[in-house]
Amino acid sequence: MQKTGKVLLQVNNLFKVYGSGENAVNALDGVDISVFEGELLVILGSSGSGKSTLLNLLGGMDIPSKGAVLFRETDIGKYSDRELTSYRRNHVGFVFQSFNLIGELTVRENVKLTADLKSNPNKVEETLDILGLSEKKDKYPSQLSGGQQQRVAIARALASNADILLCDEPTGALDYETGKQILVQLQDLTRNHGKTVIIVTHTKEISMMANRVIVMKDGKVIREENNASPVSADMIDW
Ligand code: ADP
Ligand code: MG
Repeated sequence: MQKTGKVLLQVNNLFKVYGSGENAVNALDGVDISVFEGELLVILGSSGSGKSTLLNLLGGMDIPSKGAVLFRETDIGKYSDRELTSYRRNHVGFVFQSFNLIGELTVRENVKLTADLKSNPNKVEETLDILGLSEKKDKYPSQLSGGQQQRVAIARALASNADILLCDEPTGALDYETGKQILVQLQDLTRNHGKTVIIVTHTKEISMMANRVIVMKDGKVIREENNASPVSADMIDW
């Protein structure tokens, strides 16, 4: 399925410099990309290429040195504090390599933290169901496998109604088979639940499951590819 739909996120001439003078690092060096609604986008690049920096800027977690990130045609850099908080809380969800769950809370409570219960009181149950976690809802993170913990983190990122999931090396801390199951879940969210998913990775094979691939090197986009027939996540090997 070729994605030619609406642009959800637009990145214009984005720069991010860490430090100053001799120690300055150009983490992003003039990046232009579009993210389309409902696509699975893989951002591929070796360590240090600027992937996490880009993801943080897309999620409104950091401020660019220059350039802009537009969400549905509005510059998130021009948001008020309140609008930015709302963007982070309601429109984007982060999934990290380390699952970042709260150990003292059950699965259900972890997901409930971000859930939009006002517009949908059943949100927690529904989200747990989509991720196949209904039977684990009263367990604590330490009672779960790594793959299950990562699914809780995905559920938590989704429970707010997030349109976009920003996943930074989401299989990095998992064994091969478990990592694959997580990728199957992420692909299912784009195919069957209308979500937009961005996966950042240094594993080339993972890009086969994407609708589009953006390759980064030294803070720049060096290649962009459409994938007319993405492979099912359970069919890829690495
Ligand atoms: P990736 O996620 O692709 O590994 P990053 O976005 O984490 O790359 O980093 C890009 C570059 O920016 C690297 O050279 C890294 O060392 C540098 N960098 C990232 N975060 C910081 C920071 N907070 N302070 C200074 N340098 C940083
Ligand atoms: Mg990174």
